[in-house]
Amino acid sequence: MTSDSRQVKYVLQESELPREWYNVIPDLPSPPPPPLHPGTREPVGPEALAPLFPMALIMQEVSVDRHIAIPEPVLDVYRLWRPTPLYRARRLEKDLGTPAKIYYKYEGVSPAGSHKPNTAVPQAYYNAEEGIRKLTTETGAGQWGTALSFACALFGLDLEVWMVRSSYGQKPYRKALMETYGAKVHASPSPLTAAGRAVLEAHPDSSGSLGIAISEAVEVAATHDDTRYSLGSVLNHVLMHQTVIGEEAIKQLAQAGDTPDVIVGCTGGGSNFGGLVFPFLREKLAGRMNPVIRAVEPAACPSFTKGRYAYDFGDTAGLTPLLKMHTLGHDFIPDPIHAGGLRYHGMSPLLSHIYELGLIEAVAKPQSECFAAGLRFARTEGIVPAPEPTHAVAACIEEALRCKETGEEKVILTALCGHGLLDLQAYSEYMAGRIEDLELSEAAIAEAMAGLPAGV
Ligand SMILES: *Cc1c(COP(=O)(O)O)cnc(C)c1O
Repeated sequence: MTSDSRQVKYVLQESELPREWYNVIPDLPSPPPPPLHPGTREPVGPEALAPLFPMALIMQEVSVDRHIAIPEPVLDVYRLWRPTPLYRARRLEKDLGTPAKIYYKYEGVSPAGSHKPNTAVPQAYYNAEEGIRKLTTETGAGQWGTALSFACALFGLDLEVWMVRSSYGQKPYRKALMETYGAKVHASPSPLTAAGRAVLEAHPDSSGSLGIAISEAVEVAATHDDTRYSLGSVLNHVLMHQTVIGEEAIKQLAQAGDTPDVIVGCTGGGSNFGGLVFPFLREKLAGRMNPVIRAVEPAACPSFTKGRYAYDFGDTAGLTPLLKMHTLGHDFIPDPIHAGGLRYHGMSPLLSHIYELGLIEAVAKPQSECFAAGLRFARTEGIVPAPEPTHAVAACIEEALRCKETGEEKVILTALCGHGLLDLQAYSEYMAGRIEDLELSEAAIAEAMAGLPAGV
């Protein structure tokens, strides 16, 4: 089946919804290094994670099975918005005057407006199955908090969310949306936890960070029997849940009669990127296609391109196991850029390992270039991207303009992982000329790196 010359949208039937998540680990040349206990520096066993996560998710986290069946109640919720459409960005291509073909997989059609419900729904489901009453979590821009609020409402769980203070001020409608779904939302750092109080004592006007908000949410979960913690990115099981994106995209590109030459995606903790690219990486490792796979991160929080590959804590207070990942140090507080979802000090350990293996590449982009790309996309394709995927859009445009110079007809694929309709304040500020590109100094990076745990 090939597309006609005007086709812009590739849809799948409900019967083509993936029934399994894909675990890339068994297909890699070597497995990623294990998480370590911060005291003993020995690999942590599944039981050590039991105060934080339900057993089903812990077993997925350490699984070496290539496929894991998606439970029927999760598929029932996925059907509200999945399969999601794949679009060919013909108007953007024309505007750029490029011979390249640009495709984007649009995840903004979910109730929360992003890819995050792909993992929020199974996480809420498995917790409810194991009799948990309440979840805690962090959120940056509010996308993850919204997704988990939605999922908890559907499975009858209470939810408490610590929202990074800079975003809490920037994105008031995200808070309202979480509350609409029934969640309780706190600005982080908060006086409600020991971790939050310690930060507030040292820095009373702290703008917060995902690392601090994670410490607060983990602390509350670890000290309550009926409560567990939920993470929206970074971990293996989260990236695995997101592979429905890539599995669908493979079928849709086949409908279009194309295979990708370049796949780009924005990376905060790596979940939308991993979800899009892992199924394609499987095809690449099997020799069936050979795309260049490129992660795009903000210049203000460049964990891949400027971070160190080292064992570090996932949170600021040091409550989590040590994870081997590209990190800027768990004390790092990035500038309050508008792409709040990309302000995490670390990168998924699985993606960090894949980067070390040389299977993917990474670039960093300043936010003004990203907002310019976001406007261009909105004015040609009609969809306003969230500030996070404007990083991916900027990289698509850069690649397409390179193709214009060389005359190459490359096929470029990206995930437009969320819409920006609750981020219009950021667009207003960009259009009013109030967006700054803050260069992250070597001194700031060195200072944050000084806090890395020694001896691992
Ligand atoms: C959370 C979020 C991100 C960043 O998280 P990843 O795990 O790297 O995907 C990017 N885009 C959107 C729309 C988000 O909600």
